[in-house]
Amino acid sequence: MNKKPKISLIDVTNRDGVQTSRICLSKLQKTMLNLYLDEMGIFQSEFGFPLTRHETNYLNANLELVKKGALATTRLGGWLRATSDDVRKAFKLIPNLKHINLSISTSDQMIVNKFKGKLDHASVIKEMSEAVHEAHSLGADSIGVNAEDASRTKIDYLIEFAQNAKKAGAERIRYCDTLGYDTPFSIYERIKILAESVQIPIEIHCHNDLGLVVANSIAGARAANDAGVDTYINTCVNGMGERAGNADLVSVILAIKYGSGMGGYVLDEKIDLKKSWKVCKYASYAFGVPIPINQPGIGANAFAHESGIHADGALKDRRNYELYDFEELGRGEPEIIETGRKITAGEYSGIKGFRNVYEKIEVAFASDAEATEVLELVRYANVHNQKPLVDDELKFIAKYPDIARKIFTMAP
Ligand SMILES: [Zn+2]
Repeated sequence: MNKKPKISLIDVTNRDGVQTSRICLSKLQKTMLNLYLDEMGIFQSEFGFPLTRHETNYLNANLELVKKGALATTRLGGWLRATSDDVRKAFKLIPNLKHINLSISTSDQMIVNKFKGKLDHASVIKEMSEAVHEAHSLGADSIGVNAEDASRTKIDYLIEFAQNAKKAGAERIRYCDTLGYDTPFSIYERIKILAESVQIPIEIHCHNDLGLVVANSIAGARAANDAGVDTYINTCVNGMGERAGNADLVSVILAIKYGSGMGGYVLDEKIDLKKSWKVCKYASYAFGVPIPINQPGIGANAFAHESGIHADGALKDRRNYELYDFEELGRGEPEIIETGRKITAGEYSGIKGFRNVYEKIEVAFASDAEATEVLELVRYANVHNQKPLVDDELKFIAKYPDIARKIFTMAP
C-alpha cells in the first residue's frame, strides 16, 4: 500500500525571521528557539547563515547540541546561495553541517534585473546543479533547492529547474512566493503542475504581502499532497519574516488540524501544539514584538468572549464559539508573577544573589567553582541579550556551560 504523503514544517524564524528589518535575535535566543522548536516536534529549523561570520560559533555550537542529544527531533538546516564557492566556504566554516537549502532566483524579473547578464536561464540551472553536487561531495545529507521568486517564474522553466535539481540529487524544491504574489488559487494550480511533473517533495515558502500567507501555504501543501508528494511548509513563530511576514507557525498547524476540508491530509505526527503558548511567548519577548490580541490561538482575545450572545453560548458549550480548545495550545495554566522581593541575575551580579536565583529554579551546583563559572557565563549572557534572562535560558547555561561559552564568543 502506498503511504499517504505528509505535511511537515520547516520553521525559518532563525533565518527569514532574523533577516527582517528592525528586529533581531541574539545567538542565545536563536539557540533557545531551536530547543523550543525541538520540544514542539518541528521537523526542521532553518538555523542560520553558514557564511555569515558572526554566526559561525553559534552554528557549530548548535550542531554540538545535536550530537549531545539536546536536539532530538528537529534537524538544523543552513541557508546558502546556490554557488559551489559558497558551498565550499560553508563546509569549511561549519564542518558538521548536514542539512542545507541552496537558493537562486528563477524568475525572468530577477534573472534579468538582478543578475544583469551575469547569469541567464541556462546558467542558473548549471550553477545550481554544480552547487548541489558540491554539497553532496562535502557530506550534506539533505539538500533543498530554493527557487527564489518561484511564483513569478514561468512554469515551464520552473519545472525544468526542479527536474535538474532532482537529477543533481536535491531532496526537495522550495517554491518561494518571495513577494507574496500568489493567491490560494494560483499557488494550488502551479504547485500541482510542478509536483505532478517532477515528483519531488515540495517546500512551500510564502509571504504575507497580500494577507494570504497561511491560506497560500495550506493551498500549496494540498496541491503537493494531491499530486502524491510530501510537502514542507515554511513557518515563522508569530508570523515574523521579511516585510509583512511569513506564515505563522501556530496558525498553519491550526489550519491543517481544524480547517474545513483538511481532514484527509496528514500532519507530521510529532508536532505537539501544547508547546505553542511557551514558544510564542518566548519569541515575542526575545524579538521585543508584542503578540497582537487577535493573533490566532495565542492572542489575548483568541478565547475571550464579551458580547451577551457569544459569552452565553461559549459558557453553555465551548464549541458554540470556539473551534479548538485553549488547553491544546498549552494555555490555561496560571502564570506566577513575583510581586514582592526579587533578585535577578545580571551583568554585574555577585555570587550570593546569583545562588538565590538558581535555587528558585531548583538548579544546584556541585561546587563553588562550578557556581562561579556559571555566574560568569550568566553575566556574559546578559551583556549578550541586553534584557533579563528567562528561567529556561538560566537552566540552559547551567546545563551546557561549554556550549553557552561558544555561543557568546564572537570576534570580528
Ligand atoms: Zn522569505
